[in-house]
Amino acid sequence: VGILYLVATPIGNLSDITYRAVETLRSVDILAAEDTRQTQKLLNHFSIEGPKLISYHEHNKRQQGVQLVRALLDGQSVAVVTDAGTPGISDPGSDLVQLAIEEKIPVVAIPGACAAITSLIASGLNTESFTFIGFLPREKKQRFDRLEQLRTHQETLIFYESPHRIKQVLQDMESVFTNRDAVLARELTKRYEAFTRGKLSDLLDFLNRNEPRGEYVILVRGITQQELETELEDLAWWKDLNLSDH
Ligand code: SAM
Repeated sequence: VGILYLVATPIGNLSDITYRAVETLRSVDILAAEDTRQTQKLLNHFSIEGPKLISYHEHNKRQQGVQLVRALLDGQSVAVVTDAGTPGISDPGSDLVQLAIEEKIPVVAIPGACAAITSLIASGLNTESFTFIGFLPREKKQRFDRLEQLRTHQETLIFYESPHRIKQVLQDMESVFTNRDAVLARELTKRYEAFTRGKLSDLLDFLNRNEPRGEYVILVRGITQQELETELEDLAWWKDLNLSDH
């Protein structure tokens, strides 16, 4: 059988591609790309010729997955790439990995750029343990429910967001997480890379003064043990009060 490779590509700066990624892209039979035009540009830049380029994205992953597994079982090697960064991280990839594992096809990850990890390590927030959330639900009620679930989380939280919704999402976060420390990482690895650090309200102020443009990661400090204890005490106090009322 062939090997399924998951190949990370740059998140902005093309020099971030790894030697191994280029070698792998040169050697595989089939390249399954989220957006073939986008990937073609990358192939041109690194003079990679050879692999058959096919499209593999959210909306065709079922049918394409079956075809790709067939090709793998047939002995062909397949690499999955997305528009940017690490496949499977808020991007297609993981369904194919599951199919491959079911068929006992070897899976090899070729590591590289990932916006979540890149922003986290420079954020100044706790990197020891963290939770990757990715994109929050679009629907307001569901978004609030999710934020509410995360409110008592002690680990650093990492979110992806588009420039169109970032202000709205930061407002929602501020109303749930109140005065938490947070970091906005913008245009990572690109020319206008910037980090904004402060309270959630500071980040909102910043975006009200600087119209959001480009790509963003939002990182939020987890709740501290002390904040959690204070909250539990308040809760107990309210319970007591309510019980004595009745
Ligand atoms: N698979 C990618 C990865 O490994 O990071 C993520 C793909 S996801 C569809 C796109 C989101 O990732 C963007 O909306 C943004 O939140 C984040 N992102 C990707 N590239 C970025 C960059 N250069 N700077 C900041 N955020 C980025």
